[in-house]
Amino acid sequence: MTTIPQSTHLHYLRLALEQARRSPPKPTNYCVGAVLVLFPAPARIGKEHVQDAEEDAETTGTMLSTGYTLELEGNTHAEQCCLSKLASAHNVDDDSIHELLSSQIRPNSQADNTNTLVLYTTMEPCILRLSGAVPCVDRIIAAKYIRTVVCGVSEPDTFVEKNEGRAKLEANGIEVVNVGGLEEEILRVARAGHDT
Ligand code: ZN
Repeated sequence: MTTIPQSTHLHYLRLALEQARRSPPKPTNYCVGAVLVLFPAPARIGKEHVQDAEEDAETTGTMLSTGYTLELEGNTHAEQCCLSKLASAHNVDDDSIHELLSSQIRPNSQADNTNTLVLYTTMEPCILRLSGAVPCVDRIIAAKYIRTVVCGVSEPDTFVEKNEGRAKLEANGIEVVNVGGLEEEILRVARAGHDT
């Protein structure tokens, strides 16, 4: 179980929503935003610490990357852009991102504690892409070290009948947390290019 407080999740989810606003509206896409955040080892974000310094909760993480729908060339998704930009910033292939993340979560190989990687996305990651591109769920699983995915809303059934993304992530040991409070604004931004 994660020890990251809900207020911190909401803070980064809002930053993901800011990313979503930058996505160009398109009738066949949702405008989604994502941010990847590294939290220091659990000892430093444990309950006692949080109770002592609740006001610091929002600043405990380090934002490693951001992304939004259609940010990169092609029909790209937010989570895809977020991971892909991090890979290219470190001159590694998208396929090798797990090696990069491995060094981020365990900066000191002697330490027992590892840092925690959390991916924030305004909408539940996709499990199927009609274009045949690699779905975001599979990219997140391939990245290996993302422990938690925080979503603002589940995917509405406009384009796919039912998104089983959450179940597949959980089956692969990744915690999925839905954080409420921004649903209305997330969906308004997501549907910016839609007729209805
Ligand atoms: Zn996707």
